[in-house]
Amino acid sequence: MNYTSFLIKYAEIAIKGKNRYLFEDALVKQIKLALKRVEGDFSIKKTQGRVHIECLGEYDYDETVNELQTVFGITGICPVVHVEDEGFDKLAEDVLKYIDDEYPDKNHTFKVNCRRARKNYPMDSQEVNMEMGGRILDAYPEMKVDVHDPDIMLTIEIRDDKIYIYSRIIPGPGGMPVGTGGKALLLLSGGIDSPVAGYMIAKRGVKLDAVYFHAPPYTSERAKQKVVDLARYVSRYSGPINLHVINFTDIQLEIYEKCPHDELTIIMRRYMMRIAQDLALKSECLGLITGESLGQVASQTMQSLAATNEVCSMPVYRPLIGFDKNEIIAISNKIDTYETSILPYEDCCTIFVAKHPVTKPNINIIKRSETNLSETIDELYKRAIETDEVIVIS
Ligand code: ATP
Ligand code: MG
Repeated sequence: MNYTSFLIKYAEIAIKGKNRYLFEDALVKQIKLALKRVEGDFSIKKTQGRVHIECLGEYDYDETVNELQTVFGITGICPVVHVEDEGFDKLAEDVLKYIDDEYPDKNHTFKVNCRRARKNYPMDSQEVNMEMGGRILDAYPEMKVDVHDPDIMLTIEIRDDKIYIYSRIIPGPGGMPVGTGGKALLLLSGGIDSPVAGYMIAKRGVKLDAVYFHAPPYTSERAKQKVVDLARYVSRYSGPINLHVINFTDIQLEIYEKCPHDELTIIMRRYMMRIAQDLALKSECLGLITGESLGQVASQTMQSLAATNEVCSMPVYRPLIGFDKNEIIAISNKIDTYETSILPYEDCCTIFVAKHPVTKPNINIIKRSETNLSETIDELYKRAIETDEVIVIS
């Protein structure tokens, strides 16, 4: 089928009142970004409360649809066929051919839905609906009309220059266009969870920056590359990400040397959160995002999360908090991060873990252990922040 344009559907609920143009402008911007990755020329316009993408010349249909399915805010993608207005008989011929191409199996119910933007068309919408319905039934007797819940809603849109025919709605990713909701800093490890967490917050319209803590030589260059790759997958949806890479080795070694080993993970995570918050404040991020999920590991019990959270004054978003692992894996497969996440390179959490970490840490005891670091930690903290390497992922 030769589709010459796409009609983009988005949820009405998000675009009430004066926020509408913000929503639409952000949507158009994200569509443009996504279509830059496709070969072909496109013209993207807002018309009558809808977004319309004209394909100018040759383009790759599958690639175009794939990329549009990464644009948050889109709920449906309708591929449109354009035909010239050469009288109703010719239009009926075009419509019958469209149905035949699009639905080789005719066992469907349908409804014709004419929209007349050009008011001087010789028939009104209702006449077009009736007459076209009749022609379809004559040509394809297996098809049946259902005006309440049709399998196929066949829209015929009569415009000034052309007539548009469409019926198929390819699902979009939903959510809100990135850029309508501020920016947050994702703590991105090489695991399964954090890329999914970033995806979920970006889906609500939030731009992302990210931070990765690595611990060379205990963690390898390949582990870092894995995080860069994961950030790239997430950026297909979220748009460009500034990925901060922080060398965490000295802090980690110091904690290992001075603090009880069953508290290592909690104390280490508290330092990650402190550094992340500093970076977030400097880069105008309004919150932190982690891939934590309640009860998944010792450091993700209510008590552990309370201890980790205690060092943060900015909101920490944990979109996976109530998810089971298999639910997280399903999303990670959907966004293509899973295969990369399960590559076996160690991240810095896994190297210094105790055999029996505390599962119910007491914040006062943790704080007391942290005083063992008081002579050295300020300097190590400062030096860690100075190692910040920013990799622009786009
Ligand atoms: P993930 O699959 O996201 O690695 P996890 O189940 O392994 O999560 P933890 O290792 O306890 O859980 O980490 C919890 C969260 O802390 C992660 O989801 C991530 O947001 C953050 N985090 C952990 N390690 C790092 C790291 N090296 N750099 C940046 N963030 C990290
Ligand atoms: Mg991890």
